[in-house]
Amino acid sequence: MNNEEIIVLSEDITTKIAAGEIIERPANVVKELVENALDADSDEIKIEIVRGGKGLIRVSDNGKGIYPNELEKTILRFATSKIKELEDLTKVQTYGFRGEALAAISSVSKFSIKSGKTGFDTYELSVNFGKVNSCNMTSPYIGTVVSVENIFMEIPARYKFLKSNASETREITKLIKKFIIINDNVTFAYYVDGKKIYHYIKGYNALKRANELLDENRLKPVEYRDNKYNIKGIISDPLVQKHKAEDIIIYVNGRIVKDNVILKAIKQGYSFVLPHNKCPVAIFDIKVSGNDIDVNIHPAKNMIKWLNPNEIFHIIYNIIKSNISKESLSLVGEYRWVENENPINKKYGYKEIYNDLLLFDEEVQNSTLVKNNELKVLGQLFNTVIVVEKKDKVYFIDQHIAHERVLFEKFLHNNILNDNISVNLSEPILYEFAIDKIEFLENSIEDFLSLGFGFERFGRNAIKLTKVPSYIIKKDIGDIFESMVNELDEITDDSLKSKIIASLSCKAAIKANEKLSYYEMETLVNDLFDSENPYTCPHGRKIIFELTMEDLYRKFNRL
Ligand code: ADP
Ligand code: MG
Repeated sequence: MNNEEIIVLSEDITTKIAAGEIIERPANVVKELVENALDADSDEIKIEIVRGGKGLIRVSDNGKGIYPNELEKTILRFATSKIKELEDLTKVQTYGFRGEALAAISSVSKFSIKSGKTGFDTYELSVNFGKVNSCNMTSPYIGTVVSVENIFMEIPARYKFLKSNASETREITKLIKKFIIINDNVTFAYYVDGKKIYHYIKGYNALKRANELLDENRLKPVEYRDNKYNIKGIISDPLVQKHKAEDIIIYVNGRIVKDNVILKAIKQGYSFVLPHNKCPVAIFDIKVSGNDIDVNIHPAKNMIKWLNPNEIFHIIYNIIKSNISKESLSLVGEYRWVENENPINKKYGYKEIYNDLLLFDEEVQNSTLVKNNELKVLGQLFNTVIVVEKKDKVYFIDQHIAHERVLFEKFLHNNILNDNISVNLSEPILYEFAIDKIEFLENSIEDFLSLGFGFERFGRNAIKLTKVPSYIIKKDIGDIFESMVNELDEITDDSLKSKIIASLSCKAAIKANEKLSYYEMETLVNDLFDSENPYTCPHGRKIIFELTMEDLYRKFNRL
């Protein structure tokens, strides 16, 4: 074939390319399949995943099913039972309408769809990475079961972007929670690797579902209705202060969407009572006529365009402002008063006590000084750069990046067998975290311990920090630990340790604009020259800038 020839790609290839727009990871598959089950008016939906959905995703429903002679059409691109004409687009009440999901999913996995309707035989269609294998009659079933195995297995370019099983599972679980909360007229069962995680019976209402699934009971229902909008919401009182907007969930006409207009309205509504870096729990279920929004702006249909964004902004903003009551406001005042203390410590009657850890113990100092005796620390420039003379060179060292490098290597080369890595805290520190964070911590106990952090679970949603790394000094180690844990989120298990190390090194390192004693500078410089790579930090930033005697003399025209 001549290289410049333009060819029309085969159907098989175009479908696989288009699949990338909807299906990037297992959670996207789960979303499409659950939406299909809801579109089919099911009131019982079972979701099973194995190995973060990479092994298996199976969604079974008791919905209206598919006629035997229609089954093979479900995997054709742009084949849908939900719209027939362009005008139908503004009226769609269903999640799906583009007829792309099953085509996409079946082109990138080992796929099967089994479906039965009352009065008809049940058939099962199986497809292997886009190639139809068989379509046969099978044992009777009323409803539909879709199984997706080995997603992307034959498409390495996509497979390699999948994250660890744990991380894909987390993503799916987050999504499932959102479906469960709003669809309270549906029974949901959710299984991960054969274990039942959630089981909610229909009729158990959204507020109770949200209380349990988001592990938060300071929530209250709100409502708004006019001739255009019908809005139900669940919002938290100002004592609920989340680090992330994770529990802000927006549904428009039942569809889970990311919408900046609503998000902004929520944030501004809360801006009077929440610190600017904290987020509430807010769930809004907005029903509006299809003429006022366009859902067809993205293939994944997770974004919408408002015809009149100002209007909906003000409605949401006002719902929040009028519902955050005076009594909760007075609580906020009280809360703010204690804000500088660790609220958890206060709650449990602890004082904030960290062991006064010594910066660089004497042994370290002696050993390194001997080795690098030709180094002479001259001082600190601008409280940020350490100046060192070595033979015929002058080094300018960025103290933050240098310390980051030193800590990084110390953590990397230490292991659990080395007793010196930890120091016991004279008083343990308690932290409250969300349940999934606690579970994550419990599962990663070994990794943390190998870096010097020791902790144990304390009740349902707190942990007790008992040991901290001996290398972290002078710093508020309690805060470092907390902010680090809050950051560790999108992390894959495989690289957990190195991510902890990177985050810890950066947080614990001496900052720029920090005045150092001569002793601290000397120790840092010696540690740096003892490290494997004193010249660049783990991210490749320059640590040392050097000037030779020659360079300097040339400036004075001495040479
Ligand atoms: P869309 O949902 O956009 O129509 P899909 O590819 O998701 O496209 O599904 C194609 C068609 O297959 C749907 O229009 C519907 O007719 C049928 N279908 C898919 N899943 C189910 C299900 N769980 N129950 C009944 N019919 C289904
Ligand atoms: Mg669909």
